[in-house]
Amino acid sequence: MKPATKKTGKLKIRSNTEDMVRKTMRDFVDREVIPIAREYDEQARFPDHLFKKLGDMGLFGIRYPRDVGGAGGNTTLYCIAMQELARGLMSLAATVAMQCLMATNGLYLFGTKELHEKYLYPALKGEKKGAFQLTEPDAGSDLKAVSTKATKTSDGWVINGMKTWSTSGPKADFHTVLCQTDPSRGFKGLGFFLVPKDTPGFSYSKPFDLLGTRSSSISEIYFNNCHIPDHYRLGEEGRGLDVLLKILAEIRIMTASLALGLHRAAMDDSIKYCKERTAFGKPIGNYQLIQAKIANMAVNLEAGQLMVNKVTNLIDNGVSCLNDASMAKYFTVESACSASDEAMRIFGGYAYSMEYSVQRYYRDNRFLLYGGGTHEVLQTTIGREILSR
Ligand SMILES: Cc1cc2nc3c(=O)[nH]c(=O)nc-3n(C[C@H](O)[C@H](O)[C@H](O)COP(=O)(O)OP(=O)(O)OC[C@H]3O[C@@H](n4cnc5c(N)ncnc54)[C@H](O)[C@@H]3O)c2cc1C
Repeated sequence: MKPATKKTGKLKIRSNTEDMVRKTMRDFVDREVIPIAREYDEQARFPDHLFKKLGDMGLFGIRYPRDVGGAGGNTTLYCIAMQELARGLMSLAATVAMQCLMATNGLYLFGTKELHEKYLYPALKGEKKGAFQLTEPDAGSDLKAVSTKATKTSDGWVINGMKTWSTSGPKADFHTVLCQTDPSRGFKGLGFFLVPKDTPGFSYSKPFDLLGTRSSSISEIYFNNCHIPDHYRLGEEGRGLDVLLKILAEIRIMTASLALGLHRAAMDDSIKYCKERTAFGKPIGNYQLIQAKIANMAVNLEAGQLMVNKVTNLIDNGVSCLNDASMAKYFTVESACSASDEAMRIFGGYAYSMEYSVQRYYRDNRFLLYGGGTHEVLQTTIGREILSR
């Protein structure tokens, strides 16, 4: 895959590579994902075969350079792919998004050649799965409260503690884990460590029974005297927050991209239903109150897409843009929640049946409200940043 190159001709605002990635992913989602989405959601089963196919297609390396087995793409291409995947099945999109970014980025930046060969290259091919663990039962938004402890030994580290809400937790081959090395230093004691699943003392709970993204495999993770070598520390000691901050804008714009995909699915299904369903002798799309719902969905989707495009462009040009990414995440996720709620109304009583996908969109979008920062936290940081100017 070639890196995106911009053409500046009239109305040609996207690169050929961007169009190609969107079309490839759109066709894949229409052909392979949408037809199985209902069945896998109902059975709370993850489509491992599609994960494998996406690995074979080179998607997991989309934002990594070619010298580590990536596709030489960028954040724009990554986010386009996530928009399309989320249109099909949010559980698959969220797991893939994790594999492409949070689960592998620390390994890419700080892993030795040996770790790259053992974990990064296979992960980018979809042969190994990664997970990313920040959250603990008593530490969600407040990462200063992380208490999973990494203790230095003569030849490495010993990890003790537990994590929760670990996406891919029960299935992952390796885990990027935020630990505290010196509780007296708060944020400055935090650091990331790589813990392979076959480390003695590593275990996990049975997968959670979820409201939405039911095909995702999410669990608690336990570390009981897990010994890892010194070079399994990802980044400098005490610089865990900096490592996280480096990709926080990208995490937020990826989450915004998932929201765009779900929003589009809710809108497309609604438009189709508005034309098919008749009431009082006319298709319901003839009624102005229904037209207003479609108009709101379309306007918010367009605005959200522009925000996402702006932020991915800033990231790809090395411009720091955390507040823009937070605003985009906040707006697109709230819009997707509103779009799936409106879709539930457009479908009338049939929205309540499992036969139509709108109920899945309505359940799945809730997870976007928490991942990448809750909206209360985002509102606080956005407001604070603006007031500090
Ligand atoms: C489906 C799913 C998958 C997930 N996957 C992962 C994963 O793979 N890895 C991982 O590490 N985590 C994961 N998470 C966890 C997610 O990141 C956390 O839920 C999120 O960080 C919020 O933490 P919390 O749930 O503990 O809420 P809390 O932080 O306890 O917040 C509770 C409430 O208080 C509000 N609040 C908290 N602090 C403030 C403040 N300063 N100002 C105003 N309001 C505040 C919050 O907005 C929220 O309304 C996942 C969650 C879900 C639902």
